[in-house]
This record gives sequence, structure tokens and C-alpha cells, in this order.
Amino acid sequence: MLVISRQQPPVRNDIAGSGEFLAQRGLRVHYGIDYQLAAGEAVLLARTCAFSKTGQAYSHAPEFRYIEFRDGAWFVRYFYVEPREALMVGDTMIEGEFIGKSQAVGQHYANGMQDHVHVEVFQPGDIGDTIPDEIKHTFDLKKNRTYVDPAAYFRSDLPG
Ligand SMILES: [Zn+2]
Repeated sequence: MLVISRQQPPVRNDIAGSGEFLAQRGLRVHYGIDYQLAAGEAVLLARTCAFSKTGQAYSHAPEFRYIEFRDGAWFVRYFYVEPREALMVGDTMIEGEFIGKSQAVGQHYANGMQDHVHVEVFQPGDIGDTIPDEIKHTFDLKKNRTYVDPAAYFRSDLPG
């Protein structure tokens, strides 16, 4: 079971790399946090927000899903989670609610990467100047999004 709270669960750190926010990925950086979790485990919502949509994590592997939520201006995405039945767009869901089951993403990469749930928190546009300096964040020009440290979001350290 994955419960993200102020007490952060273990972050993946294996032969395939580190799952920390802004960890190096070749020329890019990692835009989320990878919370260690074996495939098939329950994933619980870490902070109350509204269900927005589900999507494909990869264009070439439709079985891997993400679940997106809205929290004011923030978008929160949980990747490699098979969505539970009957998620209703716009419905407010409460912290601790079951949202789906973790998927076998390690098997997909087959490079020693351990199964995990990748969580991203972002807003459209370049909003870096509204985020306190001590909170890690980065702007992606191509996606036109500002990503913030999900741990800071879950600790409620962010404005808005
Ligand atoms: Zn990741």
C-alpha cells in the first residue's frame, strides 16, 4: 500500500538511477518522485483534490496509466497506477481514498529498475517567481510547465 504523507515513503534508488526530484536523466532531469512500491499494491490519494482524467504514461505502451487530479491551480499525476473503477471527472476525492493499483513498471524497463509510483506536481506556465527559493522547482519550456518537489506539495509548503 502506498500512503504518501508528511512522512515520506521510501524513494527508489537502484541500478537504473535515483527516483528523487530533479535527479539527472542524461540531458534531462527527473520531474517527479518515484515512491517504491511493488506491483499490485493499493495506491491511496495523498492529498484531497478533484479527479481530472486518466491517461497513458507512454505512447508505445498503452497498458501503463497515469491518474491526474486538480488541486486549485496544481496538477497532480500518479504514474504507473491502474485506475480503480468509477472515477468521476470533477469529483472531490479525500486524502486516503483508494485510487488504483500499482503497475509492474520495472518489468517494462527490465534494466534493474524497481517497481514504483512516479508522482508529478506542476502548474502550466513559468511560475517560478511565485515559489519560495527553498522549494525545489524547475520550468520546462517545451511543456510550458513548472514542476515542483512533490514532497513539498504533500507537506503543504507551497503557496496556493
Ligand atoms: Zn520517475
